[in-house]
Amino acid sequence: MTKHENLETTLVTGAVQHDYEAKSGAVNVPIYASSTFDQENFDSFGPYDYSRSGNPTRDALEKLIAKLENGTRGFAFASGIGAISASLLTLNVGDHIVVTNEVYGGTYRFITTLLPKYGITHTFADFTDLEAVEAAVQDNTVVLFAETPANPLLGVTDIRGVVAIAKKHGLKTFVDNTFMTPLYQKPLDLGADVVLHSATKFLGGHSEVIAGLAVTKKDDELGKAIYAIQNGMGGILGPHDCFSVIQGIKSLHARLEMSSKNALTIAEFLQQQEDVLEVFYPGLPTHPGYDIHQAQSTSAGAVLSFKLPNRDFTKVFVESMQIPIFAVSLGGVESILSYPVTMSHAAIPQAEREKRGITDGLLRLSVGLEHVEDLITDITQALEKAKTAVTVK
Ligand SMILES: *Cc1c(COP(=O)(O)O)cnc(C)c1O
Repeated sequence: MTKHENLETTLVTGAVQHDYEAKSGAVNVPIYASSTFDQENFDSFGPYDYSRSGNPTRDALEKLIAKLENGTRGFAFASGIGAISASLLTLNVGDHIVVTNEVYGGTYRFITTLLPKYGITHTFADFTDLEAVEAAVQDNTVVLFAETPANPLLGVTDIRGVVAIAKKHGLKTFVDNTFMTPLYQKPLDLGADVVLHSATKFLGGHSEVIAGLAVTKKDDELGKAIYAIQNGMGGILGPHDCFSVIQGIKSLHARLEMSSKNALTIAEFLQQQEDVLEVFYPGLPTHPGYDIHQAQSTSAGAVLSFKLPNRDFTKVFVESMQIPIFAVSLGGVESILSYPVTMSHAAIPQAEREKRGITDGLLRLSVGLEHVEDLITDITQALEKAKTAVTVK
């Protein structure tokens, strides 16, 4: 890679440029479907011995994501939660973490139900309020865990601010960068130590693979510790899935630019609808995190959420929508409408959920690649049907 190469170029070519002795001219990274590797002789072994420990297709993806995030080591896991859990399992008994209130439901479940079994405790804090983050730091705190923009209300965390608190107290900063991808936000450049991804979402981009990635800033103890968990606990991503993610990453720029542009148009449209009580999108100047987001990211992304009057209204609305699929997940080429209460955030108890603003009328929309006017027409007719069916008090 030359110094002048732009990230968009690296997305497409980054994985194919390192490798391979046997140059076939293939434009894609080969899928090395091999669990083991024949060693040349008794004394000297090649770079790979067994695919849990290392696989050339996985290597290509791991190097690619490390390069895209400006990190040094990348790790591919069987899911985003696999990457998140492996990174947190580098901690020790007695350690404590401070976690953003607005955290992905599966991360919440891991931190609240599994980590305590290993003697790792946590405190949730409002990461949109840096004083609250610092106030939650204890003597045994080792990690501040941020997600920005977050799920599902698109709360924005000041990454530089969190990093400053971490540095002051000698802590590490982990950032879940799933919503932005390295195309729009590079937490390691802002001082974070570990970046995490559900590659199931925008990086994969076609709703065909479950995958997770972790990247460390340095190849220091933390990088070695994550590798030890990856190899020692075994939650690796298989070569076929690594291939899918590499292919997805190639079109990330074209997909995400279009989806983000359409998301802004839809967010602005929703803001003008009288039955839409609130719109959450970091690209709207009315969003409380707008300025901070602008200072650390280059786009607001393709996910937004909005509040409808109540559960009944929301049900009719969802059942009337024709283009988006109604499903968990996000980041696909198809628009995905989800109901956080029973989907992504079902793992969070109701009282906690409501405290976090995840109410019965909240919907999340991940904007895909359909024509934006078709999506707006669809939303318009669904709002009308819901209004007719339900008397709004
Ligand atoms: C989906 C998601 C995860 C979990 O990833 P999986 O691939 O589903 O395990 C983590 N963080 C965020 C922000 C997500 O959207």
